[in-house]
Amino acid sequence: MDGSSGTIGVVGGGIVGIAIARALALQGHGQVTVLEKEDRVALHQTGHNSGVVHAGIYYAPGSLKAQLCVRGRAMVKEYCQDKQLPYREAGKLVVAVDDSELAALDVLEQRSRANDVPGLRRLGSEELRDIEPHAAGIAALHSPHTAVVDYAAITEAMAGDVRQAGGAVLPGHEVTAIRRDGGGVRVTAGGAEFAFDRLVVCAGLQSDVVAGFIGAPKSPKILPFRGEYWTLSAATSIWSAG
Ligand SMILES: Cc1cc2nc3c(=O)[nH]c(=O)nc-3n(C[C@H](O)[C@H](O)[C@H](O)COP(=O)(O)OP(=O)(O)OC[C@H]3O[C@@H](n4cnc5c(N)ncnc54)[C@H](O)[C@@H]3O)c2cc1C
Repeated sequence: MDGSSGTIGVVGGGIVGIAIARALALQGHGQVTVLEKEDRVALHQTGHNSGVVHAGIYYAPGSLKAQLCVRGRAMVKEYCQDKQLPYREAGKLVVAVDDSELAALDVLEQRSRANDVPGLRRLGSEELRDIEPHAAGIAALHSPHTAVVDYAAITEAMAGDVRQAGGAVLPGHEVTAIRRDGGGVRVTAGGAEFAFDRLVVCAGLQSDVVAGFIGAPKSPKILPFRGEYWTLSAATSIWSAG
């Protein structure tokens, strides 16, 4: 982005699209319009994830993922404090249940230390039980600053920032066609046509479909798969499907 003004369209009102729109609007890169197909933002992955603010345990030291994770954690915390949004430092335990998992735990410990995961400690089985009586294992890593947030609330707040900076966030605008027009693009969404100098596509798991609108090849293709999550039931002290 060269900093010149102009019109910028963003497809997708998940946290990625809204965060990009917010940065572009606040930094004065142009007139920003977000086109979101649902009737509000954050309705897909962003509103259906585990809400964890990761501290950098898993990523290869020095990688961009590791750097962004550590920096992003601090930024999310600061943003939640500024906007008075929930930010709960519940902490995380990574548990080795038997000897066969110790080598993998060692690797995660080395990575965590290289990534400066704050407050990281290696625990034995008793310390592990002190922190989480429902967990059992022979060793664990404890990351006390891994947090839980409401990513949908964060996205709503950032959408407010976009609007306050003069941009538009338009729910109910499903993008159904994109065509090049000179140096810009024309986008059909919600029964209207929009002209933009630049377009940023952040359509999450529909990104391959939207990319197809401008002639992208069918491969790579996004494949869905089912995952299962469990929550600890306080009443029964067993894990139940959530
Ligand atoms: C089960 C699960 C758990 C996760 N847990 C965590 C976690 O704990 N911590 C973490 O940091 N990350 C987690 N993630 C990852 C995180 O949720 C995603 O990386 C993030 O939400 C992606 O945001 P997004 O904006 O790219 O996608 P989305 O939130 O899916 O947003 C894409 C948006 O594009 C819109 N769209 C699509 N097609 C069109 C169209 N044609 N026209 C207009 N709009 C369109 C959709 O309606 C949607 O709103 C998890 C992901 C999953 C699936």
